[in-house]
Amino acid sequence: MEQRKVIIIGWGPAGHTAGIYAARANLKPLMFEGMVKGGIPGGQLMITNDVENYPGFPSKITGPDLMKAFRDQSLHQGVEIHTEDVYKVDFSRKESKWLRLWVGDDKVEHHAQTVIIATGAQAKWLNLESEHALKGRGVSACAVCDGAFFRNQDVMVVGGGDTAMEESMYLSGLCKTVTVVHRREEFRASKTMQERVLKNPKIKVMYNSGVQEVLDVSKNEVTGARVKNFKTGEVTDVPVTGFFVAIGHTPNTDLFTGQLDLHENGYLKTKPGTAQTNIPGVFASGDVQDFVYRQAVTAAGSGCMAALEAERWLAANGAH
Ligand code: NDP
Repeated sequence: MEQRKVIIIGWGPAGHTAGIYAARANLKPLMFEGMVKGGIPGGQLMITNDVENYPGFPSKITGPDLMKAFRDQSLHQGVEIHTEDVYKVDFSRKESKWLRLWVGDDKVEHHAQTVIIATGAQAKWLNLESEHALKGRGVSACAVCDGAFFRNQDVMVVGGGDTAMEESMYLSGLCKTVTVVHRREEFRASKTMQERVLKNPKIKVMYNSGVQEVLDVSKNEVTGARVKNFKTGEVTDVPVTGFFVAIGHTPNTDLFTGQLDLHENGYLKTKPGTAQTNIPGVFASGDVQDFVYRQAVTAAGSGCMAALEAERWLAANGAH
């Protein structure tokens, strides 16, 4: 049976930063870089083309290259990485003083004194064939990541929540026009955010509308979107070069349901200003607990916090 001071679940910027700090503190961390159920291997960065807002890379780096750099650095610092899925956890400490995890095809049991969760979140998509075909070629789920590629161009944002409002406002600072397409008569977003959007002369809203197709797969780039008004039945081709989907994210928390406290929107709860969950010794970092910032650099920062807190927890509670 493997017994560890620190086990890290997840391998995005949060997981690797936690790993690097834990390894340097001589905690010999073990990281599981398996597939999160329904998730993207390697998380959101693996579907990001160019990253221009992660400090230290003045002339941009691709998402996958940045992930490789994180991984290489983890290995170099001594993080032990196992490419296996975690299937089940038991954080109750009822039958044992250890936190318990079951891993891999054979569901081998591992024990840890502390666990750092960094399983991330994934953007929801409309699930249109054309949308998937043009991902990274004008279709994006992150305005802060990709907005700068559409400077002075016309773009579309789909969604009516706070994310859609925030993304539209952000894009309006860069792009020529922003068309927001929302399926209902009114936005779900908070009133303040709505007001900002509605007052912005660069932003136009199409209510009661849905996107039928992103154009143009045959050209391998976004040239527009076919939008249907559900009330009138009218179908319009709106010319845009950037297409941003902002219909929510799903945090990868299935493994922890019933064991850890979650916010109403499904994200893991941490004590404000810390990485602590409701279970002593279990820490959460990155997008799985962050529905506000969701950036690689904030995920990395919170991974660092989780590792430092795990180290302090071990010091205070004595290593087994
Ligand atoms: P929400 O779930 O709040 O909103 C999703 C929006 O997308 C809704 O308007 C919904 O429509 C629409 N939508 C969902 N599925 C589809 C679909 N298949 N086709 C078309 N439209 C769809 O997600 P957000 O990401 O906006 O926000 C998540 C949480 O994070 C919220 O609690 C929010 O308040 C918070 N947040 C806070 C921020 C801040 O404080 N600065 C910034 C961003 C988010 P409908 O309204 O009809 O359901």
